[in-house]
Amino acid sequence: MLALARGRLRAIVLDRRLRAKHLARPMSSGRKQFFPNATDAEWRDWRWQLRHGVRSLAELERYIRLTDDERRGCAETSGIFRLGISPYYLSLIDPDHPYCPVRMQSIPVAEEAHTHPGELRDPLGEDRHRPVRAIVHKYPDRVLLLAVDHCSVYCRHCTRRRITSGEEGGISREELQEAIAYLRGHPEVRDVLVSGGDPLLLSTARLLELLEGIRRVPHVEIVRIGTRIPVCLPMRVDDELARALRTFAPLFVVTHFNHAKEITPEAREACARLVDHGIPVENQAVLMRRVNSSARAIKDLMQKCLTMRVRPYYLHQMDVAEGLEHLRTPLSRGVEILRELRGWTSGLAVPHLAVDLPGGGGKVTMQPDYVLEKRARETVFRNYRGERFSYPEPRETDCNVPYDEVFYGARQEDRRPRLPVLP
Ligand code: SF4
Repeated sequence: MLALARGRLRAIVLDRRLRAKHLARPMSSGRKQFFPNATDAEWRDWRWQLRHGVRSLAELERYIRLTDDERRGCAETSGIFRLGISPYYLSLIDPDHPYCPVRMQSIPVAEEAHTHPGELRDPLGEDRHRPVRAIVHKYPDRVLLLAVDHCSVYCRHCTRRRITSGEEGGISREELQEAIAYLRGHPEVRDVLVSGGDPLLLSTARLLELLEGIRRVPHVEIVRIGTRIPVCLPMRVDDELARALRTFAPLFVVTHFNHAKEITPEAREACARLVDHGIPVENQAVLMRRVNSSARAIKDLMQKCLTMRVRPYYLHQMDVAEGLEHLRTPLSRGVEILRELRGWTSGLAVPHLAVDLPGGGGKVTMQPDYVLEKRARETVFRNYRGERFSYPEPRETDCNVPYDEVFYGARQEDRRPRLPVLP
């Protein structure tokens, strides 16, 4: 008992020291250069960050000397997709290098205004599966709930820009109620991914109202929140938010770090706060040509995610979306990168390489092929170092699980998919 109390006390002291260290943290060079007059209190206030976001070419030019390509990109995409960068994310930009990964993710180039044959406005075929406006129900047991149409930073690689461009108009409270009603009527849904836009931009009160509505649906087992807030606006993750999210467990936060440059002390603090409150955090990165398309960049990103207790989950091949050809990598690049990770670093740092098939085919995963030969009784592999090893097949091949009948009985039948019939 005494040891437990001492342990807790030590944890509280450590936590205070960490927070004191954070508050005393020296101003980053980007902040010093771009926002020298912002007080610490303002900088740490997520609403101040939103109010001071950069939203136009003229504003952007006050901070960064743009290239001609970027200037044209801002002008030519102005009617296509929003421009928006939080001061915090802007402060991470290398003002001297157009290939800075933060810069490439937030400042458009002229290519973004061009659509190439085969590119799709709705690359994942979601709109065909929207039985109500705020729900995408494409897979048997899970749905995407579109909670909001805006973001703290408008990522140049966003493939849901038909929604985040604001073209559709915002999502109303009534439409969210309609979404909850849809969940209630669909007992096959056990997993709800709340996304958008960025749902953590809702006020905490609105977010809680939404999550409470979802949690009241008895057959929903898990909730996931898809958010770029820990990357682009980490100050939003305060104790109040983390405590509130904890009450909806099992709830997972799925975030979206694409480069180790985004893993700052502020981002670390946001992720630590979530994990310390018992909220698992997973990362979905997108592979982007010349942003992070080297094995070195991806390995560093995945390893650094683990040091934040953020589990690398997916590495996405870029979707075939309008205006994003310049950011797409050949499929072989992702596989080559995985080959340089598998075996050479912890398995936990190796994400699934996923291709979301254009037009709504769903995700498939790719990986290096380690099989050299398949024989009747053995398979010959090469390992990560290129050495040959064989795996012998067992004599018995019946893999039925006799206890399934006892443990599951008729319950398996309850989960038969019942997909919505849409016009
Ligand atoms: S945060 Fe997500 S939804 Fe918003 S612009 Fe970026 S990728 Fe798109």
